[in-house]
Amino acid sequence: MEKYSIRSLVGRLCEPEIPEFPLETELNLPNQRVINLDALRTRSDLLKPNEKNILEKLLTYYCKTEKVTYKQGMNEILAPFLLLNRHNVPLHICYTCFKNFVAKFIPTLFVDDAFKPLSGLYVITKLILKYHLPDLSTCFSNNEITPDIYMTTWYVTMFSSKIKELGLLYIFWQYLIDTNDNLFIIYFGIALFEFFKQEIQNQEVMSLPNVFKKICIVDYDTLQIVLQNSERIKANMPFTADMILKKYNMFCLENTESFVKLLEKFMCLLILPREIIIQTYPHDAVCKCLDPRNCKTKRLKYLLIDCRPTKEQKNGYFINSQLLSKAAQKYPNKLLNYPKSFISLKKNTHIALMGSEENKDEENLVQKLFDSFIQHEFPYVSIVFGGYKSCHEFALLHNFEILSHKIKRCLACNSCDDSENKAKELTLDSFFRIGSTQKTLTPVIKDSLIKTEKIYKCKINESQDIEESDIGLIVTLKQIYLWDIRRNEVIEVFDIDQLTKITSNKTCSENLYFSFIKIPKRSFILRPEECKEFLFKVRTNFQAMRN
Ligand SMILES: [Zn+2]
Ligand SMILES: [Zn+2]
Repeated sequence: MEKYSIRSLVGRLCEPEIPEFPLETELNLPNQRVINLDALRTRSDLLKPNEKNILEKLLTYYCKTEKVTYKQGMNEILAPFLLLNRHNVPLHICYTCFKNFVAKFIPTLFVDDAFKPLSGLYVITKLILKYHLPDLSTCFSNNEITPDIYMTTWYVTMFSSKIKELGLLYIFWQYLIDTNDNLFIIYFGIALFEFFKQEIQNQEVMSLPNVFKKICIVDYDTLQIVLQNSERIKANMPFTADMILKKYNMFCLENTESFVKLLEKFMCLLILPREIIIQTYPHDAVCKCLDPRNCKTKRLKYLLIDCRPTKEQKNGYFINSQLLSKAAQKYPNKLLNYPKSFISLKKNTHIALMGSEENKDEENLVQKLFDSFIQHEFPYVSIVFGGYKSCHEFALLHNFEILSHKIKRCLACNSCDDSENKAKELTLDSFFRIGSTQKTLTPVIKDSLIKTEKIYKCKINESQDIEESDIGLIVTLKQIYLWDIRRNEVIEVFDIDQLTKITSNKTCSENLYFSFIKIPKRSFILRPEECKEFLFKVRTNFQAMRN
């Protein structure tokens, strides 16, 4: 690898010319013997004896200063950074790069002695694998090959154990940092499976764990192909599914267990009404851009299958949706073979299944149809979160036409208010209040507020276009309001005097994290040009309240 690339890898992880600091420490941790043995074993053919000593010292130093117990995996990640020292990168910089790299991608993985975040990432990986490679996913689940068998090393060593050649590993890590996407590690792992799919499928199930161990990247061409495949997988992630998964930050240790419980209930990736409506309605109805062919909003091809009972479909349905036939609803055999009629769409169309969210039987039907698609090895099949009811609400809100809509008979129009509120709250729960047992009461807010106070547009997901976002933040003397711009209503209120700190993302300074005394951390991304002004306002009001 050229020097230039080493410099840019280091530049991505460490401030230039940070002052040198001593890395000396006594080798006296309770499990020092393990660290010592691991240091001797790590890339043993490559590291010279003095480098092995330094590796042990830095691992010990890291455990002491970060107050974590040593865990295997740290050695695999640290060694490649340590070896940058051979390219005249000072040792304290090598160390800082390692520390920041871990903090960026696996912040609390080594903090928790049970590797708790992994249990969450397993569930996420299973869902993503099922969406992209249903055949492998089925093969694994039929044979009880659980993600812990194949993906622990992805995160614990950051693929250091899979990419032995240092130059290639540096290229991969640099690429990973540039994606700024925590799920990319999973896409890359799945892309690696895709590349070795033949080998995996030709093996006896018993020997699969060994096959997984052997799978690795040994040359530049393979790395390039696997990276390209990862990009394709990423591009084929529905943006709202990606958004939902990213809301469950598994590295937030106090929430990991509840997140795992929630996600384990997902049988597949869920997408939100806004995505399926925008993707299935004609371009000009949902997007103002002048270039439909290269439109970013409608980037994926979608087929919406409406699984509601026929009598409900008759009272309104969405343009371009496929209505599940009465026969398929009635006869299990027809349902099982239903996917066959879409064989020509396989592999290039995303299929979203929608129930009505009214009765349990039908939820069952959606699940059965989903299973049929998986049995026929269709990739890209998801279920619409909130079903017809939520889509219907979204369509009405944005004035998208519902065909044959008979308002008097339409179930969604006539469901009682009580359950409507519940549905709305549920949606909000998933996005803004996850992990919190405390509900913020939404106070009555005076109209005058929005007329006088500026709305700072914001988004919660990096891949979203901020100008298309529907939410904003309003700063008043005592509170920050999360505001629904389209509906002109409050989503959530934060008390400024409950703020403990606001931090910004190292690589993206307009991505702000708000920490509070009693409620979990929130993060919002503002317009870069408004960020300073916003922070100034909050700070001023905060100080005014303290004085
Ligand atoms: Zn467009
Ligand atoms: Zn209706």
